[in-house]
This record gives sequence, structure tokens and C-alpha cells, in this order.
Amino acid sequence: MAHSAENGIRFNASVVRGFVVFSRVAGWVALAVGVLVLALWVAGVGPMDTIAHVQAGMHAASALACVFAGSALLLAGRFPAASMAMSLLVALLGGHELWLHASDPTHAQSHWLDVSFPDYAGRPSAHMTGLATLSYLLLAGVGLLVVAKRALWLREAAALAVIASALASAATYGQVLAGGGLALLEKLPILTAAMQLLLVLGWLSSVPTTGLTRVAVADSLGGAFARRLILPSLLLPSLMTFVLRTGRDWLGMSESLSLALASVVAGGTVATMIIWVGFLLDRVERQRRTEVALRQDAHSDGLTGLANRRAFDAAMSNSKRRPGEFSLLMLDLDRFKDFNDGFGHQAGDDVLREAGRILRTVMRSQDMAARYGGEEFVILLPEGGERQVQLAGQRILDAFRGHAWPQRVMTVSIGAAVAREGESSDDLLRRADAALYRSKASGRDRLTVDST
Ligand code: GH3
Ligand code: MG
Ligand code: MG
Repeated sequence: MAHSAENGIRFNASVVRGFVVFSRVAGWVALAVGVLVLALWVAGVGPMDTIAHVQAGMHAASALACVFAGSALLLAGRFPAASMAMSLLVALLGGHELWLHASDPTHAQSHWLDVSFPDYAGRPSAHMTGLATLSYLLLAGVGLLVVAKRALWLREAAALAVIASALASAATYGQVLAGGGLALLEKLPILTAAMQLLLVLGWLSSVPTTGLTRVAVADSLGGAFARRLILPSLLLPSLMTFVLRTGRDWLGMSESLSLALASVVAGGTVATMIIWVGFLLDRVERQRRTEVALRQDAHSDGLTGLANRRAFDAAMSNSKRRPGEFSLLMLDLDRFKDFNDGFGHQAGDDVLREAGRILRTVMRSQDMAARYGGEEFVILLPEGGERQVQLAGQRILDAFRGHAWPQRVMTVSIGAAVAREGESSDDLLRRADAALYRSKASGRDRLTVDST
């Protein structure tokens, strides 16, 4: 799974691809539905009109707009100019229909599409509804702004308005299915609403890494939430009205009982969504903790909790060394073998743990302390020259001397070297080691800084 970053969000490449594929499918479906409705209308068959006994169908003018809008979406990727021309046609048609509505609200005059084809008895008028004209105008705006890559907030606002009107229609359809009135469906037939919803989602999905959809394609917890919860939460109100009407009109429940039922359904759905979010959060949290633990295992020393040899080697090879400002200290506990022999290996381990704790407390945040092996430690001062080495070394010696050791005072010998121009890691380590040897040879419990 590849990732790309934009606006600080990491995107899930396969989800992004899925959105783009959805956008193309949406374009094809809208185009096909538009052509089909137009063909049936021209032929004088109007089955779309009588779905579920209501004005659920799509008017001929609306079908034509749907054809243009679907084509605009399909052309957007490779033929931006043609796509914009199609969106302009949608806008023109929507605007013209709006004007027809305003100038002739009762549709006393025949629609220009009606007069273009031979009349069949009972064929519905081609006029699209007023709400549909507005939504097509907005849809055309969304299409134009997506292709022109302009006015992101305006585009998203227009898209949300289309989504809202389509969802309102869907909620009414839920009522209608349950035997209720069809007030809004007369204003926006469900098939038109469905196609407008599909088209606007198609437009937003065609550029998934911009605008509001970018959270839905994010490779993050937020993305996972958005992908799974947006649709159920949008559909919840429609479900509620459906339950409400079914209870009252079909099952003969009282108003209050059907309201109670709808509340239980709504509450249950929201609670289910929250529980699901809870499980998801919990799983992600556990994964994160295991990951952190694994990462620590691989890079830290089990006994002292300091960085291990592998982490130290990595830090050395990745370090940018400025000559004179990067230093290395090597530490070796004094007469530790005697201590082990005298007090046992367990007590020796306790001393090593204690030594780790001391080093952690005397180090500055930018420094790195690691267990190099057995009872040897190294400290990197990435921003420290000779002076800082003297100070750090002295702090360590003092801390060991002043520590309340349970068996006997444990001291440490230190050798240090400051990086030179162009010096290799091996050479730097060798000089620090040689300095440590001199500390041991000259009596232990001291710091020697290499100055050769
Ligand atoms: P010097 O002052 O010269 O460093 O004397 P030393 O006894 O510390 O010297 P040496 O390096 O020979 O001894 C290191 C000892 O550290 C040997 C080994 O028993 C002990 N040691 C190494 N790793 C561990 C460990 O993980 N736990 C314990 N308890 N002891 C360890
Ligand atoms: Mg040793
Ligand atoms: Mg030793």
C-alpha cells in the first residue's frame, strides 16, 4: 500500500483509487439512467413514473440534464474543456428550466421537449421540478469548479446543498414507502434525487485528496471512521421517518408508540456506531502499544533500559558530525569482576541497572547513552566539544561516587574523544577506548580526554 502526502495528510492509495473508480461508475450510471429515461419517455412508456405508486420518476428535461452531467463527470479527467462545456449545458438547461418555472408556474404552455416529439396519451410533461433545477445548477457549479480547480469552499458548499436536497427527498421517500404523503417528492422525484446525489458524490470522489473527501481517504483513524460512518449517519434520518410512518400507518400504532419506536431505532443505531468506534479505537490503541514495545525491544537494552549496541551503531552511522562539536565517552565499571565474585551475579545486575539509571539522570535530552556491552557504556554528545565532555564526565564520576550503593561504592573509568575533521566512527571509538585504557592504568575512577 503506497502512500502520498498532501496538506499533511497521508492518503491510503488503494482507497484513493477506489474513490476515483466510484466516480467513473457514477458518471456511467447517471449517463445510462438519463438515456434510458429519455428513451422510455420518447417511446411513450413511463414505468419510471409509477415506482411505488408515487411520482418517483424523473422528468424528461431532468433526464437530459442527467445525460449532460454524467458526460461532464466522465470527461473531466482527460478532456477538461469538453467536461466544462457539458457542465455549462447542465447549467444552461437548469437555468432555462428555472426561468420556465418562474414565468409559467402552472406549466400552461407545453415544454419544448413535449412539442419536439409526437404526443402519447398520458405521457408526463417534460418539465423538471423547481428543486431539481436548483440542484442541477449547483451540480453544474460543482463540476465546473472541480475541473477549474477553483474556489474549494464554494464547491464544497454547493455539493453539500445538493446532498441535503437529495437526502431530504430520500427521507420523504421513506415516508412514502411507509404509506405517507409525497409532498417533497413532487418537488424532487426520488430517481432525480438519487442521480443528483450520485453525481455530486462522483464529482467529490473524482478529486478525493482535496476538500472534505480528503479525510475519507486518509490513511488514519479519522479516515477509517469517515469511510465507515458517513453513509450510515446520512441515512439515519431517512430510516427514522420510515420507521415512524411504518409504525403509525401500516402497523396501526399510536403516534406516541411509533415515535418511541423511531427513537429506539435511532438511539440504537447511534449507540451501535459509537460502540463500533470504541472497538476500533481500542484495537488501534493496542496495535500502537505493541508497535512501540516492539520498537523499544529492538533498540533498547533489556537490563538497563538504555539504548543497545545496535541503536548506538545506527546513531553513530546516521550522525552528522561537526568537528570539535561531537564527542564520544566510553565508560567501564571499575573492578566489576571482583564485585560479581564477591556479591554474586544478581547483585552485579542490580549495579548495572543502577548505573543505567544514573546515566539517564545526568544526560541532557540531546545526548544518547547506550550499553555497549557487559559493563561498558558509551555516551554520545552530538552537540558537545571538549568543555561539555569535561562537564559530562565530571557529572558522571560525581554521581557514581555520591550514589548510595548497597554493597560497596562503585566507581567508573571514562575515556573520551572529540570528533576530528573527516574522522571515521571506528577511529573515534578507538581514541575514546585508548583514553579509557589510560584512565584505568592511571588509577581508575577518572576521566581522560584524548588529546593526541
Ligand atoms: P576493570 O576495572 O579493569 O574494568 O575491572 P573489571 O573487573 O571490571 O574488568 P573486566 O572487564 O575484566 O570484567 C568485566 C566483568 O563484568 C566480567 C563479567 O563478569 C561482568 N559482566 C559483564 N556483563 C555482565 C552482566 O550482564 N551482568 C553481570 N552481573 N556481570 C557482567
Ligand atoms: Mg570491561
Ligand atoms: Mg570493568
